[in-house]
Amino acid sequence: MSTSPLKPRPPLPEGPFLVVGLARSGSAVARSLAERGEEVVGCDAGRPEEAEGLGGIGVEVNLDADGVHLLERVRCVVKSPGVPNEAPVVEAARARGTPVIGELEVAWRMLPNRFIAVTGTNGKTTVTELIGHVHRRAGMPVAVAGNVGTPLASLASKTEPDATVVCECSSFQLEDADAFAPECAVFLNFAPDHLDRHPTLDDYLDAKLRIFANQGNDDVAVYNADEPALRGRDLGGCARPVPFCSEHGGDPDCAVSLEQGVIFWGERALIEASELPLLGAHNAVNAMAAAAASLAMGVRAEAVGEGLASFAGVPHRLERVAEIDGTPFVDDSKATNVAAAAAALRSFDGGVRAILGGSLKGGTFEGLVEPVAERCVACYLIGEAAERLGRDLEPAREAGVELHRAGGMEDAVRSAAAAARPGEVVLLAPACASFDAYRDFEARGEHFRSIVESLQ
Ligand code: ADP
Repeated sequence: MSTSPLKPRPPLPEGPFLVVGLARSGSAVARSLAERGEEVVGCDAGRPEEAEGLGGIGVEVNLDADGVHLLERVRCVVKSPGVPNEAPVVEAARARGTPVIGELEVAWRMLPNRFIAVTGTNGKTTVTELIGHVHRRAGMPVAVAGNVGTPLASLASKTEPDATVVCECSSFQLEDADAFAPECAVFLNFAPDHLDRHPTLDDYLDAKLRIFANQGNDDVAVYNADEPALRGRDLGGCARPVPFCSEHGGDPDCAVSLEQGVIFWGERALIEASELPLLGAHNAVNAMAAAAASLAMGVRAEAVGEGLASFAGVPHRLERVAEIDGTPFVDDSKATNVAAAAAALRSFDGGVRAILGGSLKGGTFEGLVEPVAERCVACYLIGEAAERLGRDLEPAREAGVELHRAGGMEDAVRSAAAAARPGEVVLLAPACASFDAYRDFEARGEHFRSIVESLQ
């Protein structure tokens, strides 16, 4: 159990600060710095709505601006995760020796709390929210930050020091981490994604492994011992390892394991996987990760079991939105990569009518051939990726799965609904980002839901 005194945080670098990227997390960090009395200038290449109101608290806001000309006036650049390393202002700052620090690092330095950080290609939000739920269930003060709800930096002014902060960390946040050292770091899984931003898969994995890099002896490193990308790999850092694994892993050192359908903590049964409210084998793995982290941070085993049994899930992650004439309609709009969509398809025994497609991220869809051939009766292909999906899924078509090019979401949902027989499932699991047609995956999921509701 991690009960050691909290580590002192390194001080913030000296300002004035230039915050680059003023969407959700960038605006939150600009606001928190300004509230601490720091001099803050912000810039964004576009005009994000979150930047509104920053001027009123003394942040100088520069929109539609690359920000290079502002460097002369600042001593530190704070980079939002959405801003690539190749952005002119980032390159120019590095060239002139101005420190560039990530938003996660700044927010962590401002928060004195015990910290649980969660990374992985898929499942971060689910596991972060689940750990928060388990802590609440145990009556332990907790604050959750991440994609759903609150950006981390905005916790700085409103979180009691005795609360545990649980935070999901993307590779884009971790690649800019410097001294970041959470008391508990959780590594869920690794699969190809974001190849439009990381030059190679190794770069993407290295960014994720930074979650462990600065941890000390009193910290814990929770990781998936079944994850092939971690096998034989030094995690880095000095934390106590707390592996979790399924029975196929067979690792006797696993702190939390799944054996014959039961999740164990050592010798103690926590819950039967069939009692978990979340669908799919991948969510049993997520439950093990959340249990391992919570137990390592001192949550009682009974509260962990109760928390796992009562977690309602997160919207747009295998969310059942309706059942019409015996056909469930399931929204997994957050399945924005192949691994997530494959896990979604494998959550059903068969009879799936899958809606796939959206914007391309650089990568193939070949990893979908097997789950589509195993679980689908038909796929409805939409958006910019439809043509590529059609080509990559040709072996599944040869194996008997119908592939339809749909005109868009509405056409796809209506066609799938019209063809579905009782017992089949209509599943939105796009395997693609949403930006070809939507603001974000949430807007895509809401559109799916509204079309389904219009069918009832
Ligand atoms: P993240 O925050 O990492 O994107 P989410 O919890 O939002 O993770 O889930 C993203 C997508 O990945 C959803 O489609 C979800 O169903 C799927 N998913 C969740 N956990 C896993 C997992 N352990 N393995 C594969 N896919 C997963």
